[in-house]
Amino acid sequence: MRHLKKVETVLRQATTEGLLGQHHPVAGFIDVQGVRDSVTALHEAFAHVPDVLHAFAVKACPLVPVLRLLADAGMGCETASPGETRLALAAGFAPERIVLDSPAKTRAEIREALTLGISLNADNLPELDRIDALRPADSRSVLGLRVNPQVGGGTIAAMSTATPHSKFGVALDDPGARARVLDAFRQRPWLTRLHAHVGSQGCPLPLIAQGLAALHRLAEEINAHLGRRQVTSLDLGGGLPVNFSDDTVAPTFRDYVRVLTDTEPALLDGRYQVVTEFGRSLLAKNGFTAAVVEYVKDSGGRRIALTHAGAQVAARTVFMPEAWPVRVTAHGPNGLLKTTHRVPQDVAGPLCFAGDVVAHERLLPELSEGDVVVLHDTGAYYFSAPWAYNSLPRPGVYGIRHRGGEVSFAPVRTPQTLEEVVEESGSSHVEALLPGFGPFGRP
Ligand SMILES: *Cc1c(COP(=O)(O)O)cnc(C)c1O
Repeated sequence: MRHLKKVETVLRQATTEGLLGQHHPVAGFIDVQGVRDSVTALHEAFAHVPDVLHAFAVKACPLVPVLRLLADAGMGCETASPGETRLALAAGFAPERIVLDSPAKTRAEIREALTLGISLNADNLPELDRIDALRPADSRSVLGLRVNPQVGGGTIAAMSTATPHSKFGVALDDPGARARVLDAFRQRPWLTRLHAHVGSQGCPLPLIAQGLAALHRLAEEINAHLGRRQVTSLDLGGGLPVNFSDDTVAPTFRDYVRVLTDTEPALLDGRYQVVTEFGRSLLAKNGFTAAVVEYVKDSGGRRIALTHAGAQVAARTVFMPEAWPVRVTAHGPNGLLKTTHRVPQDVAGPLCFAGDVVAHERLLPELSEGDVVVLHDTGAYYFSAPWAYNSLPRPGVYGIRHRGGEVSFAPVRTPQTLEEVVEESGSSHVEALLPGFGPFGRP
């Protein structure tokens, strides 16, 4: 209930300040102290590991002020594209606290990382050949190889990265693969890290632990084979699943460490430096989306609320509702939880395709025009990663601070204006396709 009281206060204040309402019918909110508490919980769970870098997976919340907050809280960060690396640098992460993991790094991207001293995990053996050619002799980058322990998938295929045919990493159990990996390390004394990211939401802890146990055994095998401790660090990836059904944080980072330690006792015993790359588990429960109800109608006996939260802020939920259900609560225009009688309703979004529904036949207090719906636990991979379909502007995102019963807001991302939408849609080339214009139209 405490959580919902806070949400009510945020909605009331955001409406009063005009951050949410007629002009801005959808907005995202991030609980600043909640993020800090999650980072603390992560650090505490690994407190017994002497050398550990917790790198936040930027894709889970690619917003510079959030990254800055995480840096200030003691995190490093994991990036997977030139854009994400740029965000990490803009947020003030030191290059040696950035880990670059993209599966399709260009030569330019590799060169930049090696020059700046950003750590990098090669996705495959051909990428190691590129690094051979590009690595400055004095590069400070820690270099690793991503492997796929092929332990299988979880309940969401698109989130399962350790399946036999996954596109990520060197598939360890393929014929001849181990020998090729051993060779790759023998030929490159600077290759000192092994990396695996077994999967994200939907992958149970024992499966993740099984994959990371295989990672540890491989490190031991390489070091034994080479007769020297060349592999000195293990990057365990992220993937702690999030409970989207209520306010409970489960599993916790402590649960993760316990299952890992039970499965492979030597994994966290301090002989290897450890890197983690959690994303969803740090941010999801620290954010929510609020959207105004524009109309209510009945269709074929079904009640439908047409709101401003659709696939542009909840793409996964809309396209895979079974895999990504979100909790929705119904609030009046003043932010207070509605207590009117509950009826099954579709909570639909504003986009022009029929599937744009974030909750199907959900039992909720009867919604009406001007009400607000809240999509809970959407602090990662939701409003921070909007989709530009129908030219909808990116909604504003606000940091929230609670003091006593009061709440104050900090700007995280300014709501996109329609002028900006027009601009990014090519308005500076408005006449480029007309006859007589541009290189092909020239007489
Ligand atoms: C997405 C990703 C992560 C973060 O996963 P979460 O499920 O958000 O914790 C970490 N590492 C890699 C390589 C990833 O692709």
